[in-house]
Amino acid sequence: MPEQPDRYLPREAANDVTDESDDEERTVVEMTGGRLKDAVALVTGASSGIGEATARALAEEGAAVALVARRKDRLDALAVEIGRSGGRALALQADVTAEAQARAAVRRTIAELGRLDILVNNAGVMLLGPIVDAPTQEWDRMIALNLQGLLYATHAALPHLLAAAQDASRGVSDVVNVSSVAGRRARSGAGVYSLSKFGVNAFSESLRQEVTARHVRVSVIEPGAVRTELFDHVRPEVRERSTRSFANIEMLQAGDVADAIRYVVTRPRHVAINELLVRPTEQEL
Ligand code: NDP
Repeated sequence: MPEQPDRYLPREAANDVTDESDDEERTVVEMTGGRLKDAVALVTGASSGIGEATARALAEEGAAVALVARRKDRLDALAVEIGRSGGRALALQADVTAEAQARAAVRRTIAELGRLDILVNNAGVMLLGPIVDAPTQEWDRMIALNLQGLLYATHAALPHLLAAAQDASRGVSDVVNVSSVAGRRARSGAGVYSLSKFGVNAFSESLRQEVTARHVRVSVIEPGAVRTELFDHVRPEVRERSTRSFANIEMLQAGDVADAIRYVVTRPRHVAINELLVRPTEQEL
């Protein structure tokens, strides 16, 4: 086996946290400097779309990044890519709808990367369709991931974020919750997705009031239409209708939303961007 540079520790596979054992393979890649030098971020849903772009952006800023999602191969490839660019990433396979796995992902982040300064709750699913005759398993999946997954990850991370905010390096820490335009405006055909994102906004505001005096900033990012895999999971008959409404507009790229998140977490300690709505210019609603 060819010798690997020091910054590539065993990188054959992502770190599986589907159980609590400590002996699994892991990918750890070293890093460079930047505005988030010395910070550690955990990004859920880092295997594609907005989460993947955000992980890259935070790594570019010098943060060590824990990459959390279920698709191990995608996380692994991203960790290697970040490592090759001089960053540091830890790939953690986890289904955050299972509380034990969400908790284990946070625990492994602390064990491997030493601290936690930024939690980006991005993993989400958008199963659009009318309420009448909806397959209720779709509702269960949205509630389980968009709400419960976010709650579990946040609960597990908060003690570490509170501790990070008290130490000298940044003096502040961040919870960034990826909500949606659908978290501000309910529309027909998006009832339960909107319910979940309104819930994210409500929870974020309550949490903000609880922890802001202790320098944990809580932000919601509300993207409009972004070109990602999100629409692929929508039932074909519904997908056709929903994609038609965006057919003639230039949608956002995942990197555009990552830029917004990068902006939020690189503000000075006394500046909290609590809410950021980012639409494609041509999107009316
Ligand atoms: P993607 O489908 O590309 O990303 C979703 C991510 O969530 C994937 O990385 C997926 O990885 C992960 N995920 C799904 N289920 C789980 C699970 N149980 N545990 C852990 N991770 C999971 O879509 P986007 O990047 O567009 O979505 C990211 C966020 O942005 C979502 O919260 C979405 O609601 C929000 N958003 C998106 C908009 C858009 O137009 N695209 C608009 C507004 C908001 P894996 O399958 O490997 O687990």
